[in-house]
Amino acid sequence: MTADALAFTCLGTGAPPISLRRAGPAHLVEAAGRTVLIDCGSGVGQRLLAAGRRGADVDLLVVTHEHSDHLVDFYQLVISSWHQGRARPWRVLAPAPALANMATQMDAFARERALRIAFEKRPDATGLDIVFEELREGRIDGLGDLALDAFLVDHKPVEPAFGLSLSHAGSRIVFSGDTRLTPSLEAAAQGCDLLVCEVFIDAQMPVVAGVRSAETVASVASYHMTPPVVAGLAVRSGARALALTHLVPPAADTAALAREIRAAGYAGPLIVAEDLMRISLPERLLGWSGATIGF
Ligand SMILES: [Zn+2]
Ligand SMILES: [Zn+2]
Repeated sequence: MTADALAFTCLGTGAPPISLRRAGPAHLVEAAGRTVLIDCGSGVGQRLLAAGRRGADVDLLVVTHEHSDHLVDFYQLVISSWHQGRARPWRVLAPAPALANMATQMDAFARERALRIAFEKRPDATGLDIVFEELREGRIDGLGDLALDAFLVDHKPVEPAFGLSLSHAGSRIVFSGDTRLTPSLEAAAQGCDLLVCEVFIDAQMPVVAGVRSAETVASVASYHMTPPVVAGLAVRSGARALALTHLVPPAADTAALAREIRAAGYAGPLIVAEDLMRISLPERLLGWSGATIGF
């Protein structure tokens, strides 16, 4: 990776529904010698390993909001990283309700952790220490030349929820987090090099008796972004490329999704993300499964 590279890896492009193809939400940012993990959904440790990375090397974990799919593997990440030799405390930023959840995970396992520490006799237990900080709007400090700004989005009734803007050496990525269309996201996305946006594919979420009603689909769609809404945002913002992640349903027909985005008027570079896709700026390269694609 060159010194001015800003790399964004989609570790987990799924959502709460279980999927063999898409792990729970997790994305990795690497730039300026820093490694930032965004969310720690189900399977994050496995996906980090598959990406050639380790939880032990993460400098900062940011959790965007309290929904379970974004933080359910927190404790597993902490323990598995310790087993990889992590020897420094975790720095974790999240909104207060998500912090409370992760603190509770640590409390729930306090006894088993104490037993492990005493019995396993590893050289260092500092990797099990967590420094929790409340995530607020604005610049996150301590990341050197990687500028990471949090902005409030609208995922009510879950609040607060955050999106992120990541800048390094003249490249800028905007990550929507989980949200409905909202002015703060419109503002953040203006002129970005890459818009990474969640998508709820309502056309592929039929009513299923005993599973979800029409009301369920309408409710869930209302605090997410449907394909035409994402496309409209991408067009208005002038984003130089669009990547879709947090796919609901995870087994979506991605070609149909891409066609829906095109039909809604977005004609620019379009990436329907898969787990382990790595996007590098300013080179505009996409690496996945041994292939490298310029976009
Ligand atoms: Zn989610
Ligand atoms: Zn959510």
